Amino acid sequence: MGTATLHIDLDALTANWRALDAKSGPGVETAAVVKADGYGLGAGRVARALWRTGARRFFVAVAEEGAALREALGPDPEICVFSGHMAADADMIEDLSLTPMLNSIEQMTRHFEALPGHPFGVQLDTGMNRLGLEPAEWAAAQAIAMAQNPVLLISHLACADTPADPMNAAQLAAFHAMTDGLDVPRSLAATGGILLGPDYHFDVTRPGIGLYGGLPFDEAAPVVRLSLPVVQVRALETGETAGYGGAWTAEEPSLIATLSGGYADGLIRAMGQRAVLFAGDTPCPLAGRVSMDLLTVDITHLPEVPTHLDILCDAQSVDDLAEAAGTIGYEILTSLGPRYGRRYADSGGG
Ligand SMILES: *Cc1c(COP(=O)(O)O)cnc(C)c1O
Repeated sequence: MGTATLHIDLDALTANWRALDAKSGPGVETAAVVKADGYGLGAGRVARALWRTGARRFFVAVAEEGAALREALGPDPEICVFSGHMAADADMIEDLSLTPMLNSIEQMTRHFEALPGHPFGVQLDTGMNRLGLEPAEWAAAQAIAMAQNPVLLISHLACADTPADPMNAAQLAAFHAMTDGLDVPRSLAATGGILLGPDYHFDVTRPGIGLYGGLPFDEAAPVVRLSLPVVQVRALETGETAGYGGAWTAEEPSLIATLSGGYADGLIRAMGQRAVLFAGDTPCPLAGRVSMDLLTVDITHLPEVPTHLDILCDAQSVDDLAEAAGTIGYEILTSLGPRYGRRYADSGGG
């Protein structure tokens, strides 16, 4: 096979959901965020595994993702849409029973006019300045919204992965001020918020990255392994170069393996020469620039030529690779390319 293989461990995924679920009290519902195709791992497979494990509510970014997820999950799970009710979404929201998180008075008007009585939530802006009603807007719209029976009030933390940041307590206080006394379930915490402790949990938590094995959930089990096949091997004399721009020069007679996988597959070029491939536990440095479809790797020190080298594995996590590339685990996961063969390991049989 010419393409790389992305191994996705659904048992690790569901173990991560259980571990995050266990961090909150029994009265707190743990939902699951599966936007961006389940952080690159396949929203349908991921959500079905989490549904079997006990997740009953899923969040996506946009209604189109919700529609695809409904096809995969069937009628029972609740599917909530962060971007709310956008123009021309009414049919999709109604036909596929999606629950939009309304973000503005404009969205409220649109929703109540197009789909009166259809379930919705409200997203409140407690300081992130990205989505949701600001305090003054909520004060103006609250009575109208409450009369339509919202199913959930949510807000999102901007700095939850930095526990000491005073923004967390400020947003918590703002969320209380905007929602205390209202008889509607509330949700503030994503992965980082769950780890901030019970004050942040309210009724529903919404983990994403922690399910998929990423920081800030540092106890997460790794979910992905990415294995790149060796296409060809080259012996280089001292002084010969490898790859575009001749950016790597052999300082001794060297063996260079050419692997299938490049920046078109999400192995972003910015990881440059800090990234390392692994033959089992043995690191093999990248030799030269990342190409669109290929990597060149120094395997001079290996006892034999391997059939594959791993770029995501126990020895190099999603966050390790992110650091080499100057980015975050979220971007590594959601950039995982469509060319990879995705292999799911799942003792649950789904
Ligand atoms: C993406 C997102 C989440 C999940 O965040 P993680 O940090 O991945 O756990 C939760 N809520 C909102 C509003 C989001 O946009």
